[in-house]
Amino acid sequence: MQCLFCDIIEKKRPSRIIYEDDHAVAFEDINPQAPVHTLIVPKKHISTNLEITDADNWLIGHLFQIANSVARSKGIAENGFRLVMNCNRGAGQTVFHIHLHVLGGRLMHWPPG
Ligand code: AMP
Ligand code: ZN
Repeated sequence: MQCLFCDIIEKKRPSRIIYEDDHAVAFEDINPQAPVHTLIVPKKHISTNLEITDADNWLIGHLFQIANSVARSKGIAENGFRLVMNCNRGAGQTVFHIHLHVLGGRLMHWPPG
């Protein structure tokens, strides 16, 4: 199964990884939509939000904890940041391996486009 983010996790493709542990990685988005745009990605291949199961509950919480660490270390926690997980094509999902977008460093608008 071909998966861009599995390839990044397995270091078969280059990326700017800023955090890694046994369960997840965080790397910089290649096409940033804000001054800070980091992706938090579980090492387990889960194709969309809809495929998350009860067995993944800890892992999903872990992704949010990493997002907090990234936001704090990049100095955007206080001002505010946005976490996004697109689910399926109509919402803009293009890589079918779940990931949390951490966006910040500019004013975030609402509603999102
Ligand atoms: P989504 O559209 O929600 O599935 O998000 C996929 C994200 O992955 C987009 O923001 C892309 O810019 C980003 N992306 C695609 N290829 C790469 C890559 N090789 N390295 C880092 N980010 C990537
Ligand atoms: Zn994958």
